[in-house]
Amino acid sequence: MALSEFNLIEHYFSRLGCQREDTVLAVGDDCALLKPPPGKLLAVSVDTLVAGVHFFADTDPENLGHKSLAVNLSDLAAMGAEPAWATLALTLPQSDPDWLSAFSRGFSALAIEHNVQLVGGDTTQGPLSVTVQVQGFVQPDRYLSRAAARPGDLIYATGSLGDAGLALAGLRGQASAVGYLDKLQSRLERPEPRIAAGQAFAGIAGCGIDISDGLLADLGHICAASGAAARVELDRIPLSAAVRAYIAETGDWQTVVSSGDDYELCVTVPELLKTRFEEAVRSLDLAVSLIGRIEPGAGVCCVDGHGNPVDFTAKGYDHFQS
Ligand SMILES: [Mg+2]
Repeated sequence: MALSEFNLIEHYFSRLGCQREDTVLAVGDDCALLKPPPGKLLAVSVDTLVAGVHFFADTDPENLGHKSLAVNLSDLAAMGAEPAWATLALTLPQSDPDWLSAFSRGFSALAIEHNVQLVGGDTTQGPLSVTVQVQGFVQPDRYLSRAAARPGDLIYATGSLGDAGLALAGLRGQASAVGYLDKLQSRLERPEPRIAAGQAFAGIAGCGIDISDGLLADLGHICAASGAAARVELDRIPLSAAVRAYIAETGDWQTVVSSGDDYELCVTVPELLKTRFEEAVRSLDLAVSLIGRIEPGAGVCCVDGHGNPVDFTAKGYDHFQS
């Protein structure tokens, strides 16, 4: 890229998000210099979104700016962390002022909402991809992880599941899903990281994970890390009205349990802490649903309303497998 294009990018990205007092040096030097609060642990996560793999190349750039930060903030939410800073590595086919303006607008609005400052980045010419790294804080004795689930723990999920997966199926032209696209496309393109929920759950819930790859896969990560099994009751999984109608029409639970991109949180809570957890939930403007229980063993088992296991892998749905 020509120097003028770097100047253009600097124009859009040099003061993005909020301005934090614990940022000593931000964009414009060789490194950012940051001052984490004494006594806290730094939580760090990075995610790359690639055109044609993670999003359609013609995705609205404002939504892409939002989503590229949101998926990273969601990982901070899954740890119960407080967000602070982000860095951005952007690979662009060309320097398009309209695209950059919209992308930075989407990124910045979400950054400001969560008190995040963009403190550094890199730009390269090439096929469109967006890499964001985020940094946040947790208390050393108060964070969520994947290895703390024990048999008897209760499993909860925030929000509703399956919305983003059904929207993606609609965008891909799956006939039974297209009719729901209007209601659900924003759930796919503008996920809301559950930062407040993660912080409210930390210190009460043992495990936390964000549902980026589907409930079965992500709860499976908790089971593997904790050396335990999970039993999920399909009837308890929280559903939007659109997904409920879709299931009534098609019976396709596979989309709900195995499609990603919802960015809701799934947590495990020791039964003794149930009352305290549900009190914490009341402080949130967010539905949180009890969906199952941790058991001895390995893997995730889903059961229907009669308690009969439902084996999704045997049903052969693979529309959303990448
Ligand atoms: Mg995650």
